Amino acid sequence: MKLKSFDVIVIGAGVAGAAVAREMTKYALSVAVLEKNAEVACEVTKGTHAIVHAGLSVNPLTPLKNRGELMGAAMMGQLCADLDVKYQRIGKLLVAFDETQVAQLKALMQSAKRLGLMDIELIEDRSRLLEMEPNLNPDVIAALHTPNTGIVSPWGLVYGLLENAQDNGASVFVECAVTGIRWDAEAQRFLLDTRQGPFSAKYVVNAAGPFSDKVAAMVGDTSFQISLTRQEKVIFDKNYQGAVRHVVRMLNNMGAPGDFICPTVYGDLMAGVEVKPTDDFDACHTTQPGIEEHVLRSSARLIPTIPASAVIRPFSGVLNQCAGTGEFVIRSAPQLPRFLNFVLGGSGLTACYAMAQYLSLEVFPTVADAADLKTRGDFNPCRKDMPHVHDLEPEELAELIARDPRYGHVICRCETVTEGEIVEAIRRGARSVDGVKFRTRAGMGRCQGGFCGPRVIAILSRELQIPPEAVTKKGPGSYMVTALRDDHSVKGEAEHV
Ligand SMILES: Cc1cc2nc3c(=O)[nH]c(=O)nc-3n(C[C@H](O)[C@H](O)[C@H](O)COP(=O)(O)OP(=O)(O)OC[C@H]3O[C@@H](n4cnc5c(N)ncnc54)[C@H](O)[C@@H]3O)c2cc1C
Repeated sequence: MKLKSFDVIVIGAGVAGAAVAREMTKYALSVAVLEKNAEVACEVTKGTHAIVHAGLSVNPLTPLKNRGELMGAAMMGQLCADLDVKYQRIGKLLVAFDETQVAQLKALMQSAKRLGLMDIELIEDRSRLLEMEPNLNPDVIAALHTPNTGIVSPWGLVYGLLENAQDNGASVFVECAVTGIRWDAEAQRFLLDTRQGPFSAKYVVNAAGPFSDKVAAMVGDTSFQISLTRQEKVIFDKNYQGAVRHVVRMLNNMGAPGDFICPTVYGDLMAGVEVKPTDDFDACHTTQPGIEEHVLRSSARLIPTIPASAVIRPFSGVLNQCAGTGEFVIRSAPQLPRFLNFVLGGSGLTACYAMAQYLSLEVFPTVADAADLKTRGDFNPCRKDMPHVHDLEPEELAELIARDPRYGHVICRCETVTEGEIVEAIRRGARSVDGVKFRTRAGMGRCQGGFCGPRVIAILSRELQIPPEAVTKKGPGSYMVTALRDDHSVKGEAEHV
C-alpha cells in the first residue's frame, strides 16, 4: 500500500488525541489522527462520569494534572460554545454527614486554596443547602460548594474537536491500529506500520490512552506504565430530570471525594461509583454487589427520593492512570524528542484542552524545527453540531422538516431521534450502531434500543450500502444480525413527529 505522509500523526481518537489534533491544526502543518477502532471516542472517553472538575482534588505530587483541572474547568465553557457541544456549569456539593467529615472538608478546602482554587465555599447552613438541592438527604450537615464544576458530553466533545480539526485540514483514519513505529534517522521521520498500510510523520503524538505505554514501548520508551481501575455506575430514567441540580458527592473513607450522583447534559441522572483495580482493559462488566450494595446504596444516601427501580442501565468504564502518582505524562520519549507522549488519566476530560495547549504551545516548540512553528492565519475555532430534533423549538423543527422530511420520521421513541438525524450522523462518520447511538442518542433511552435497534440497522445498511448482516455494534467482530426474515428485511415503520 502507498505510504501516506504527514507532518504530525496523532495516535488515538479519544478526547486527548482529538484535543491535540485540533491544537496542532493551528500550525501550518499537515495533521492526521490514526484510531484503531471503527468509531472514535469508544474507549476510556466513552465510560467517563462526564464531570468537569473544578480543581478540588489537587495534589502537590501532580502539578500538571492540577494545572489541567484548574485551567481546564475555566476554559471548558468557551471551548464548548465554540464547538457547539453540550456543557453546563452546575457546581458541586461535596457533603458531610458528621463533624469528622466537616473537618475533612475544611482540610480539603485549605489545600485546594493553597494550590489555586479560590472559588470554593464551605456551607454549614442546612436550610441553604436544601434550598440549593431540595432532594438532598436532610442528614447532610455541611457541604463544600465549587460553583465552577460542570457537566459535558464527553463523546460530543470528541466529535466537536475532531470535526473542527478536519474543517481546519486534519485527516482522521479509523480502523487504523498502529502496530509498529520506527525512527528513520537519515530521513528524520517516523515510519508507522498500521492496519491501513505504512504512514510517515516528522512528529508523532502518542494519545493512545490505556494503551499508551505499549505504543511508547514501540520506540523503546518504557519510562512509564499504565494502571487500570474498573468503575461501575448507573443511569436513571429521565422521569427524574431536575431531581438533582448539582454534582452531589460524598467523602470516601480516606476523606477524599467519592461516590456521586449528578445530572447529565442529556437530562437523565448518573450515579457511581464502585472502583476496583483491574489489569484487563476489556473488563467493562458490572457486578450485582457493585451496583446494588455500593452504587445504589450511596446514591440513596445522597438523594433518598430516587428509587433503584428508576435505573435504566448499569455500566462501567475502565480508567487508565500512570502507575504511581497518577500524574499526566506530557513529554518526549528519551532520545526521541519528536515522539511526544500525551497521556492523561483521572480528570483527563476536564484537562484535555488545557493540556493540549500545554503540549502545542510549551512542549512542541522545544522540539520542533523553527520553520514548523508558523501559525495559520485562517484557523477557524468554530464548528456547528448536527441538528437534534429533541432540542428544537417547534418553528425550527417545522423549518427543518420542510427542508428534509426525514427529520419528521421518528426512529427512536424514547429520545425522539429521527431518520434525518441518523442519516446526518452517518454522513459525519458513524459506521456502526454505537456510532449512531453516541452521535444521536438513538438507543440511549428507557428501552435501550429494543425498539429502534432494527430500524437503525436498516438505515445503516441502506446508507452504507452494505447488507444488514454486515452492520456492527461497534466495528469488525460485533455483528448484530444473525438471520434475516423471509423478505430479507430488519426494518420497521417509522412514525411522524
Ligand atoms: C469511569 C471513568 C470516569 C471518569 N470520570 C471523569 C470525570 O468525571 N471527569 C474527568 O475530567 N475525567 C474523567 N475520567 C478520565 C477521562 O475520561 C480520561 O482521562 C479521558 O477520557 C482519556 O482520554 P484518552 O483520549 O486519553 O483515552 P481514550 O479515550 O481511551 O482514547 C485513546 C484512543 O487510542 C486508541 N488507540 C489505542 N492504541 C492504539 C493504536 N495502537 N493505534 C491506534 N489507536 C490506538 C484507542 O482505541 C482509543 O480510542 C474518567 C474516566 C473513567 C474511565
